[in-house]
Amino acid sequence: MEITVGKTSGFCNGVRYTVEEANKALDENKMIYCLGEIVHNERVIEDLEKKGMKTISSIEEAEDHSKMIIRAHGERKEVYDRAKQKNIQLLDLTCGKIKAIRVKIKNKMNDYFIIIIGKKEHPETLGVQSFAGKDSFILENVEDIKDCKKFYQESKKEKIYIVSQTTFNGDKFDQLVEEIKKEFPGEIVVDKTICDATKNRQEETRELSKNVDVMIIVGGKKSSNTKELEVISKEHCKNVYLIQDVEDLKDIQISKDAKIGIMAGASTPEIVVKEIVNYLD
Ligand code: SF4
Repeated sequence: MEITVGKTSGFCNGVRYTVEEANKALDENKMIYCLGEIVHNERVIEDLEKKGMKTISSIEEAEDHSKMIIRAHGERKEVYDRAKQKNIQLLDLTCGKIKAIRVKIKNKMNDYFIIIIGKKEHPETLGVQSFAGKDSFILENVEDIKDCKKFYQESKKEKIYIVSQTTFNGDKFDQLVEEIKKEFPGEIVVDKTICDATKNRQEETRELSKNVDVMIIVGGKKSSNTKELEVISKEHCKNVYLIQDVEDLKDIQISKDAKIGIMAGASTPEIVVKEIVNYLD
């Protein structure tokens, strides 16, 4: 059995920073709220919850005058405003790359209609849109262009500025931009804000999946960047498995002669990949 683990597999810098800072903060505080899952990985969440982190789904669940983590995806503007009202001290771990997109948008939003290409229900895109004001739209599929046009016309803006969710599929972004260009007149500025960590991981996944018999993608079921790795792998490899940890692998039959590629999403700790490799060995 030949096993190749992708070099770009596992925690990205943004997630690593988030987990390190949360750990540091929990060394000094008995209890800190975290709004939403800190990363899409059950083991990481469990470890931090044992140290005193409490995951909540709404800021209303946090007590006034408490401390709360904003995870790497960032949050909607309303959450920051509400935290002020409730005197909640924020540990804002929004990734710098996502903060940079907010700044770019701020510089353009007076003159441009903003299109964010990404998943409609994803916390990152919803957060970014909340800083873009009402003249903005999250576009996920070509079918959304019709609705987007309606909002664009109502905005009375003549120019369009396009950004991307940091973990979006690069090829799909390019295709959607082409479709938008066909439908919208006037100036369109395209800023492909897909993060390098995502881009490199997607490229390596593509190459690896072309050269193996079985591709194993490791990551949380809710992880957007992990799902994209599965989609890319399926374009080139017939046997693709998306698993969360070594337990999921135990039901899968793999030939001893198979060439196996392993790639983990941005929220998967190194230990999970090591356990998978040991099991396969
Ligand atoms: S994938 Fe990129 S943008 Fe997202 S948290 Fe990681 S480093 Fe930041």
